[in-house]
Amino acid sequence: MSGPRARTDEVELGGTRWRVHDLALACCALEYAAASVRLQSARAGADDSDVARHFDLLPAGPEQADVLVVSGTVTDAMAPAVLAVWDRLGRPRYVLSFGSCANSGGPYWDSYCVTKGVDQLVPVDVYVPGCPPRPEALLAGLAQLRRQVAGVPA
Ligand code: SF4
Repeated sequence: MSGPRARTDEVELGGTRWRVHDLALACCALEYAAASVRLQSARAGADDSDVARHFDLLPAGPEQADVLVVSGTVTDAMAPAVLAVWDRLGRPRYVLSFGSCANSGGPYWDSYCVTKGVDQLVPVDVYVPGCPPRPEALLAGLAQLRRQVAGVPA
């Protein structure tokens, strides 16, 4: 069986470049992908949304990333893969939990095989609510993380 799908993007927020690695575990990953794909539309002149102007897909892995986005349901079976990606991240490293499943187990919170939040495995800096959150919510969460890191009050 293959591991989780993953991708790395560069995101520009307030003049700061962030490298973001998405650990795509379930349907929330489609919202992440939608945010990233809009960039390609923007480059083709078909879209000029806020999200589109900020994302850039990189041929890079977690070693080059500043932020790990966990998008989707974390199962107990997948926990070792999450920890392995976490170990490979650059330093300093931050985690954004994207969607209800990653935040708390979501609709599957009482399942015997679902981890009740990725924060049971790794420290989370920002939680983005929703089932699923919209692509714009990803950008808002990353902007919140940038403010936190910069010490700017919310
Ligand atoms: S929060 Fe909802 S949309 Fe996201 S992975 Fe869970 S079930 Fe799917």
